[in-house]
Amino acid sequence: MTVILFSAENQLWDTYSELLLDACKAEGIEADITRDADRSDAEFIVYAPNDQLTDFTPYTDCKAVLSLWAGVERIVGNKTLTQPLCRLVDPGLTQGMVEWVTGQVLRHHLGLDMYIHGTKGAWKQVVPPLSSDRPVTILGAGALGAACARSLTNLGFPVTCWSRTPKNLDGIKTVAGMENLNSALENAHILVLLLPLTEETTNLLNDERLAHLPTGAFIINPGRGPLIDDQSLLAMLDTGHVEHATLDVFRVEPLPAEHPYWTHPSVTVTPHIASATRPETAVKSIAANMRRALDGEPLLNLVDRSRGY
Ligand code: NDP
Repeated sequence: MTVILFSAENQLWDTYSELLLDACKAEGIEADITRDADRSDAEFIVYAPNDQLTDFTPYTDCKAVLSLWAGVERIVGNKTLTQPLCRLVDPGLTQGMVEWVTGQVLRHHLGLDMYIHGTKGAWKQVVPPLSSDRPVTILGAGALGAACARSLTNLGFPVTCWSRTPKNLDGIKTVAGMENLNSALENAHILVLLLPLTEETTNLLNDERLAHLPTGAFIINPGRGPLIDDQSLLAMLDTGHVEHATLDVFRVEPLPAEHPYWTHPSVTVTPHIASATRPETAVKSIAANMRRALDGEPLLNLVDRSRGY
């Protein structure tokens, strides 16, 4: 019997515990799934951010801590966590992000906001360029960035993907390393942020970097709030250098009611809904990784602590 500690709040427990049990069964794992943090015999911890579970020292039998979230910035620096940590990569999460990013890119590309907000009786025809004339840069070429890049490339957008290490993505221009960031920004009519939050990526988009965007650029951030220096972005929006920012993630969530983003005419706020973890597919990805650990195979989506993602 494999003991799985699931660090879930009530609602998550209700949603996931049965599904997780079924997914384990499908992998041939007979599991005892518990919320009891005193079960130091847990062989796996399925981790949802939870203030109750901050000390991982007791779990000496634990083969892996499997995050239910793609972003692991809240747990990766925990010094008591010496067990292997895996982040979530799952087809449902990826597809959700592809749909959200593609939708937002098309919205800005087609200038739909003007018609949605109304033109007050004016018959105002604005013909957008074709997608082939609208370069998109995606910062991050991982599970989500690469999938979004493929979707946008299929729609005809010239996409550049920027990452830390060189990538080879079919039909997509890729660049890597800090030394190539400014050039990736210079051509970005639409900039999509799909980076993890690490020491290196915090405030990556500051005054100096944002100034490299072409005038009138659009920013779409479903990555993490602190990737952007808020004051720098607000200043760039005020001058019109950045035409519009669609922000799904923030330094403080929920975004405080008094934050200027709520009322800025060139900001769209969405409440961290770009892509939710989809229970049905997520439990399968997690159970499959447990199966690998039990069979002595290398874990998938292992987080590198030194890199922070
Ligand atoms: P991955 O780890 O698969 O990809 C991360 C990408 O970022 C990689 O290409 C990596 O480069 C690149 N990167 C990391 N650090 C740097 C750096 N210093 N310089 C350049 N590139 C860097 O992550 P995912 O694609 O799965 O997820 C990305 C992020 O999306 C998550 O961390 C999370 O913050 C966010 N997210 C948001 C959601 C929402 O609803 N808003 C939902 C799910 C995720 P390399 O490939 O070379 O390692």
